[in-house]
Amino acid sequence: MHSQADALKTSNDTGTLYQQMLASIVQSSEDAIASKTLDGIVTSWNPGAEKLFGYTSEEMIGKPITLIIPPDRLSEEPILLDRIRRGERVLPFDTVRLHKSGRLVDISLSLSPIRDLDGAIIGVSKIARDITIQKRLHYDLEQSESRLNIALEAAEMGAYVLNFKTSEATYTKRYLQILGFPENSRPTHKELLEQIYPEDLARRNAAIEEAKRTGSIDLEIRIIRRDGSLRWIRARGKVFADEEGVPEKMMGTILDVTEQKAAFEEVQASERRLTKLADAMPQLVWIAEPDGKVTYYNNRLSEYGSTSQEATDIWEWQPLVHPDDVDETLEAWYNAISTRQPYSKEHRMLMKDGSYRWHLSRGFPDKDAEGNILKWFGTATDIDDIKKIQQSLAESEERLRFTLDAAAMGNWSVDLATGRAITSERHREIMGYEETGNLTREKYLKYMLPEDKVQLDAQFEKGIKEGSYQFEGRVQRPGKPISWIKVQAKTIYNEQGQPTTVLGTIVDITDEKHAARAILESEERFRIIANTAPVMIWMSGNDRFADFFNTRWLNFTGRTLGEERNEGWQENVHPDDLEHCTTVYRESYVAQRPFTVEYRLRRIDGVYRWILDNAVPRYSHDGEFIGFVSACMDIDDEKKFNEKLQANELMFKTITNVSPVGLWMTDAEGTNNYINDTWLNWTGISLNESPVYGWMEPVMAEERDSIHQQFLASLALRQKYSAEFRFLHKDGQVRWGLAEGFPYYDDSGYFGGYAGSVTDITERKQTELLKNDFLAVASHELKTPLTSIKAYAQLLSQTYEKANDAFLKNGLMKMENQVNKMTKLVADFLNLSKLESEKFRLDLELFDINELVREIAIDIQMVAINHTILLERKRPVFVTADREKISQVVTNLLINAVKYSPEDKNINVSLKEADGWVTVSIADKGIGIKAGEHEKIFQRFYRSEFNNNISFSGFGIGLYISAEIIKRHNGKIGVISEEGKGADFYFQLPVVS
Ligand code: ADP
Repeated sequence: MHSQADALKTSNDTGTLYQQMLASIVQSSEDAIASKTLDGIVTSWNPGAEKLFGYTSEEMIGKPITLIIPPDRLSEEPILLDRIRRGERVLPFDTVRLHKSGRLVDISLSLSPIRDLDGAIIGVSKIARDITIQKRLHYDLEQSESRLNIALEAAEMGAYVLNFKTSEATYTKRYLQILGFPENSRPTHKELLEQIYPEDLARRNAAIEEAKRTGSIDLEIRIIRRDGSLRWIRARGKVFADEEGVPEKMMGTILDVTEQKAAFEEVQASERRLTKLADAMPQLVWIAEPDGKVTYYNNRLSEYGSTSQEATDIWEWQPLVHPDDVDETLEAWYNAISTRQPYSKEHRMLMKDGSYRWHLSRGFPDKDAEGNILKWFGTATDIDDIKKIQQSLAESEERLRFTLDAAAMGNWSVDLATGRAITSERHREIMGYEETGNLTREKYLKYMLPEDKVQLDAQFEKGIKEGSYQFEGRVQRPGKPISWIKVQAKTIYNEQGQPTTVLGTIVDITDEKHAARAILESEERFRIIANTAPVMIWMSGNDRFADFFNTRWLNFTGRTLGEERNEGWQENVHPDDLEHCTTVYRESYVAQRPFTVEYRLRRIDGVYRWILDNAVPRYSHDGEFIGFVSACMDIDDEKKFNEKLQANELMFKTITNVSPVGLWMTDAEGTNNYINDTWLNWTGISLNESPVYGWMEPVMAEERDSIHQQFLASLALRQKYSAEFRFLHKDGQVRWGLAEGFPYYDDSGYFGGYAGSVTDITERKQTELLKNDFLAVASHELKTPLTSIKAYAQLLSQTYEKANDAFLKNGLMKMENQVNKMTKLVADFLNLSKLESEKFRLDLELFDINELVREIAIDIQMVAINHTILLERKRPVFVTADREKISQVVTNLLINAVKYSPEDKNINVSLKEADGWVTVSIADKGIGIKAGEHEKIFQRFYRSEFNNNISFSGFGIGLYISAEIIKRHNGKIGVISEEGKGADFYFQLPVVS
């Protein structure tokens, strides 16, 4: 009996409880729950229904349900009631009802019969759920999907989903098109795989295996299209795992990058060709930045003494220039740079053997359409031989100075009847005889060389007959070198016509003779040098070397000296260049100034070659201008090289400027040295002002620093670089960009810098935002049911606390745990979408962070019963911050510390105050974090992999949210950790003093 009564009591209690529960479910439900009689008269109406339809229960109870049925749906009601009468349940279906305000509401409606104790059907209970939001979401999702498709299409990308478990795959039309399949075909996965270029198949498979571990794939492979053509494809994707963490499927895009690759390779190839060409040049070739830093030399550099190479790629060439020439050279170079004019300078350069040789350095600015200098292309040509010739010429001119020193003349006469001679003092000096009186011809000619005397005598006799003579001969005075004399004589006749006297003059012409011979010799020497010089030489003027052309010149033109003389050479100059040539020559002649002129000269084979003509004025000993001497160089190769270089740059610029993505390059130090027009067009900036970092100006200030730091980090490791950022479009909109860069290496394997792209990913971001909205709404929707589940779970635990049913208790506890996890997850998702939406706001207040940390630590300690949270006692530290959000951060860090330290269970929480900052640190002794991941773990959805197969649940957003919150407080967050040795997470906020 006793036990029966108990049982009864229990069942009674249970019945009441059941009713209570039911009532409270009905009351607290978000769903509209109502009942009506079989005639359609409302008998109950919960708050959910009040909310959904706008009528209060007073207004509805006793009224026909048709009040909320729109006219065009009235026919539904009898059919539904019919089914209920037959005892059927009506499963949820979508329909429309009227709100009190007259507005239509989308609902999902389900009906079930209400029976009395005997089982007779006496009424209908209806549950209606508002599906307006779902409908909108559905619509949004469709929208976002089509937007995604448009974006994919615009980028000519194909998309795919590959299921690892079933090996099934789905593709967009574009995907098939890229692989060369007809649009409506339905190739199997296997058929698609067959399109892959056999050599690349293994790489592709390996990449997929790797993707299963790393979560993403990004590779370039070749495929053979249906039509047999070979294409390069860039395939990217993300792997999604199932609940157990097993990779389940991969989603991603493919893009045909053949053209990009080809263009890039073409540029590289043409650059290689140019380098070869440059190396083949007989000169030293160099390339410099607009500011004058030399960044390239061809391999001729090995023939010179050493330069110093700064940092990586910039050359200090000063050590190569003769110390006496450095200042002038630098001046000329800086002058050229500042005036943007071609540069030309002669200076001596240090050769490898330690000698100095004269060089002509020349540089040409390569300018863009607006006249900005992009690069300098230059050469240094060895002109040492020419210089030597010019010098030897100057020397020979010097010698001329000896000639015709104001000649002191001697006089003499011979009386033909008596043979008596009368001579002047100067005559005696010149001839060297000693006698003064009774002089005869024989006597004064005593030192004349005998062989010359014979000739002189003959001339003398001849002169008597003919009236005059001239003679040059040699005299050997005692103890003196042989000297030369020049005699001029005249015969005097009497009235009868008989010769009576011979009168004459005498001059010492030894010096003159020597000078003449010296000149002859020097002329000879000049000719030899000039003719063997490796350059073409011409000389003009009014002296004896007038219109000289050396052998090399004549060999070049294939003409004779006679043909070239006077203005003959003009016949070989290209008609288009002649006028310029002659003008420059004329003007320089008048001004007596050095000049350089470039013109095309016809070679013997009929080909016109560019010649650089470098002329300097010549002067006689008394300073008189006597024409020019010039050395000419064939600079045709150099010219062509420059043209090619410019054409190459142009091609490169054209290719990249039409590219739909921004392209950029850096040098080995990471300094930007190229950005194409696409980026400039997007942002409307010009790079004139600050070419190096100028391109970053449109990037949002708050992201500029961090993407630069990220780049430097990639640069240090020569790793792929990738960063997302916002920038200001010239139309005033803020848009999203994705910058990606890859290290590149030259032929010999030297790291050259980064080459990369900037893609406008605004559309993608917008779709992401839509997804976020979806997440927000979905999480919001999940929250309410979760809260009631939790409430019931707690209610049940309390109710059965004393019950002796281990299974039940355990089950309830597990249930509560799971609900807690889910609540946290939903909260995280909500936070995430809030963070990323415009709605994010900080509610700042002044509070004691020490107190906050303590409270949270105590809370968490209650749940983390196996861990010990050690908290130092500290005095209050006040901060102005969003208390709610900071507590989220502390909670996240503490939960992580517990979660990731399964073995050593001590967690130290500390607070430090210094320099106006408070640092909160939460240190565990758990598994720690790998060196490369200290920053990555703060990224959205980033989770590290754990090698020893332990798995930790989570989504990789906790730290991201924490970091965002701290960032928006202008604080800092970070971690100090070593793998296997625990992690010390900290964040810092400014303190209010
Ligand atoms: P979740 O924990 O949900 O994966 P979080 O954003 O909180 O996401 O953390 C991101 C990743 O950072 C984790 O997956 C884990 O690899 C690593 N991590 C976070 N806290 C710790 C910690 N205390 N010790 C070791 N690793 C941690």
